[in-house]
Amino acid sequence: MDVTTARERLEDMLVELDRSIGVLRGDPVAVREYSAADAGSDLTDNDRAQAMLTVATAQRQAVVEAIKRVEEGVYGRCVDCARQVPEGRLEARPEAARCVQCQGKRERRR
Ligand SMILES: [Zn+2]
Repeated sequence: MDVTTARERLEDMLVELDRSIGVLRGDPVAVREYSAADAGSDLTDNDRAQAMLTVATAQRQAVVEAIKRVEEGVYGRCVDCARQVPEGRLEARPEAARCVQCQGKRERRR
C-alpha cells in the first residue's frame, strides 16, 4: 500500500470516527445526521455507549498519530524497532504503529 492510499484511508477513518464519537457523546447534530428516524435509540445503554466511546477515542488517537507519521515520512515503520510493518498488517489496520512482535510485547507488559 503506498503512502497516498494509506493517508486517504486514514483520513476517511478519522471522519468516520469523529462522527461515531459525536453520536456516542450525544452531540445533537451528529445524532440527528446519524439516525434521523429514531434518534438516540441506541444510546439508552449508557455503559455500552461509554465503552464504545473509549474504544473509538483510542482508535482516533492511533489514526491521528498514523497521519502524523505519514507527514513525517516514517509511515509503515514500527515505532519501537523501526522495522517495516508487514503490508498485510497495514492493509488490515492502516493505523497500526507497531509490528506484530512489538505490539505483542507491549500488550503483555500491560
Ligand atoms: Zn517492531
